Formats: sequence, structure tokens, C-alpha cells
Amino acid sequence: MVVEIDKHSGFCFGVKKAIESASQMLELGEEVFCVGDIVHNEEEAKRLNQLGMSIIKLDDVKDIKSGTVLFRAHGEAPTSYKIIEKAGLPLKDATCPVVLKLHQRIRKAYDEQNQQNGQIVIYGKRGHAEVIGLAGQTQNEAIVIEDESEIDLIDFGKPIEIFAQTTKSPRKFQQIVEQIQKKSHTEVKWHNTTCKQVTGRVPRIQEFAKAYPLIVFVGGKKSSNAKVLFRACKEVNPKSHFVSSIEDVEKEWFNEGIDKVGICGATSTPQWLMEKMADFIRTF
Ligand code: SF4
Repeated sequence: MVVEIDKHSGFCFGVKKAIESASQMLELGEEVFCVGDIVHNEEEAKRLNQLGMSIIKLDDVKDIKSGTVLFRAHGEAPTSYKIIEKAGLPLKDATCPVVLKLHQRIRKAYDEQNQQNGQIVIYGKRGHAEVIGLAGQTQNEAIVIEDESEIDLIDFGKPIEIFAQTTKSPRKFQQIVEQIQKKSHTEVKWHNTTCKQVTGRVPRIQEFAKAYPLIVFVGGKKSSNAKVLFRACKEVNPKSHFVSSIEDVEKEWFNEGIDKVGICGATSTPQWLMEKMADFIRTF
């Protein structure tokens, strides 16, 4: 069986940077407390946990006596920084530079919209860590919409400025913007803030998925990016299977004379996990 790994899959630079920050601190023997899952990949989180990193909630910070708090790539709301400061703990901020830039843009837009009684709209998943951080830049006044069915949460009589969660599909974002523009009676500003590290991967992963009779997509169950990229694979290759670990692999997939398998994954999928998957499938 020929098993090949997509060379464009794996950590994006934001996630890579956060994992490197955590790994460096752990190597120095520091106690590391990451607020929330460092990456939406259960296997990588397990690996870091074995090296001594704990995943905590912001509420737990008050009970920590020593060690360094780590903010992951998704970014945090301004209130989170205040909580760490109040606890007097050192902070390693591994927020992705792309997300940090987006925070700044939303803050600026929020100040401007406030002066003209306008609204900030965020197209994203309510409750997702990144979206909580984005909305936090607007004192949680931003209107979060998950899809077109929610656009009526917006007041179409007031100015509107729209941003997108970085991992959202740019195509869907565009459709939502058009719907809002049709209904609005006033100015609509919009910014396609989806991350090119994710959106650029869709055509590439589709090229890869088309080239194999069977695709094994490796991704975390909680990863939005994994969902988007897996959907992209499935669109061009119906024989694409989503797995999070080798336990999810079903031998029957390889029954029908499959002699070539492509392994690919999300921006949150570690290289070592795709390699482990490839080695496992080669044994069939
Ligand atoms: S997907 Fe983009 S925004 Fe998100 S962590 Fe990776 S590089 Fe940063």
C-alpha cells in the first residue's frame, strides 16, 4: 500500500508558534498552565500534558500559586489579561499575530462605530474561544451571527461593520455580507478577515484529495478548521474519512483493492500524528 502525506497539511504558523512556546517552557522545567485547549487536537494536547502542561479555565487562575500562564493562538479578551495581572502570575502570550491584528482592527472599528451609533458584527461561532476574544474587543457589544438565518439580529437602520472569525469560509462570509447589504438602509463596511493560512489550503487539499482513491483526514473533533478542510476533501473525493486517532480507522475502508492512500489534516494537526497514521495504515 502506498501511503503519502500531504506536505501542505499540518500546523499553521500561529499554532506552531504557540506549541513551540509551550514546548520551550516545558523543556526548561517550568510549570505551564494553558488557558483552554492549546490546540483543537486531542492527541497533541495529550502529548503536551504528559510533558507537564495543564489546561485550565480562567476561573482556576486564582488558585494557582506559581508557574506561567499561557494564552494560546486563538487569543483572549482584554478581561483575561486583567485576571492574570490581578493574580500576579507571569504570562506568555502566544496569541497568533493574525488574531492580534484582528483584535486591533475590531477595537478601532468599535470606537469609530460608537461615534456614529453603529454596530460591529462578527460572523463566527458563538462561544468559540476566538470569537469570545474578538467580541471582548467591543466590550461584548458586537453582534455575533453564525449564519444567514441570524442576520435579523442586526439593526438595519444603523451603520454596520462586519468581520469574520479567521477560520470561517470566505465564500459563506461573502454571501452573508451580500444578504446584509440587501437589507441595510445605511452604510455597510466589511472586512474579509478569514485567515489565508486556512482558506489557501482549501484548493490545495482538494488537489491532493483528488489524486488518491482514498483519503484519511486527521483532525481534532473540536477543530472548526478541520471541519472546513474535511468538507473540502469530501466534496472532491467521497471516499474521505475523518479520524482523530488510529483507533478511529476502520480496516474495511481499505477492502476494495485500495492500493494508494492520501493522509492530510487541519492547521491544528501535528505532523507526528499524520506520520503515525501513515505508519499504521502501511501495516494493512
Ligand atoms: S489559522 Fe491563521 S489565524 Fe488561526 S492560528 Fe493559524 S495562522 Fe493564526
